[in-house]
Amino acid sequence: MIDTMKNIKVTKTEQSKWDSVDWENLPFGRVFSDHMLVMDYIDGEWKTPEIVPFSDLKLHPATSAIHYGQSIFEGLKAYRNTHGEVVIFRPDMNAKRFRASCKRMCMAELPEELFLKCVEATVNVDSKWIPNKEGYSLYIRPFLFATDDYIGIKPSDNYKFMIFTCPVGAYYSEPLKVKIEEYYTRAAAGGVGRAKTAGNYAASLYPAKLGKEEGYHQLVWTDAKEHKYIEESGTMNIMFVKDGVLITPAEDADTILPGITKRSVIELAQDWGMKVQERQIEVKEIIEGVANGSITEAFGAGTAATIAPIKIIGYKGTDYELPAVERREFSNKVYKYLDDIKLGKVEDKFNWIFNVSEK
Ligand SMILES: *Cc1c(COP(=O)(O)O)cnc(C)c1O
Repeated sequence: MIDTMKNIKVTKTEQSKWDSVDWENLPFGRVFSDHMLVMDYIDGEWKTPEIVPFSDLKLHPATSAIHYGQSIFEGLKAYRNTHGEVVIFRPDMNAKRFRASCKRMCMAELPEELFLKCVEATVNVDSKWIPNKEGYSLYIRPFLFATDDYIGIKPSDNYKFMIFTCPVGAYYSEPLKVKIEEYYTRAAAGGVGRAKTAGNYAASLYPAKLGKEEGYHQLVWTDAKEHKYIEESGTMNIMFVKDGVLITPAEDADTILPGITKRSVIELAQDWGMKVQERQIEVKEIIEGVANGSITEAFGAGTAATIAPIKIIGYKGTDYELPAVERREFSNKVYKYLDDIKLGKVEDKFNWIFNVSEK
């Protein structure tokens, strides 16, 4: 598939941390594999990618990403399937989205082939870190940030691309209680909501904290102008089943992150003959639908959780409850199917799986 390792310089660690990990209790994003990939962009070109032992970075205090936020990332997962192979779910989509984020943030655009090659090599060098356990995987975090040591405001000339990986267990343990946010916003039309850029997450923390204080796991973001339309939930896209139709907010206002999990759910639903609508969804439609029973399922879709069932939607002080998770035919089916595809239990008829096992 992709010509691994060629041109990538690999320096392996002499002291693996693998033995010191408590594999029974893996907190999300706190355990890091032995190696990381680093590739600089200097003088208008990508330098040789290097895989080195995981370590701290040394940064100039004026590093422009810290001051002005030219910083983007991706999130994807590698699995060990039932045949013992190392597979990644749709990394070509992450490569494409990463390049789109580069463009929007005025950063050096990383070619998709190079992104894929770097991801593959990083996963391979630490393939023993992919937990061989149901529900577990190796989370892959590619990121790019501006490295000019200059505090004038302009696009940086230099960048650093990196990838590290984290073995992870299940992301959410219980169905979500979410609140429809009516004051704060995540993204406005014409802004950077479509890019996976650092600042979007910084901006969401304070409103999310207020929501947590009221007992909600996540917020459901609404449009910045009128707070009338549903956008997404926390760091996941949001989807509903209403009268048997899969509905999800349309991406065209540039305010919604174009999720790969969501896209896959849509493609599966269509393949199964279910009607799908990507359109504007009014908050009112959701609240009324949950209250009158026409909305039978609500869930977040994203790489970290895959499908995260929503149990309660809070709106203007009232909690609206959805049917029990066991009764949700579509989301349970789609969750299982996505799991089965990744684990090689069903045929990968959509060509979503990249087998990156070393030959
Ligand atoms: C990453 C992300 C998603 C989900 O995208 P996936 O490709 O499915 O992981 C949704 N919303 C936001 C804001 C995100 O950052």
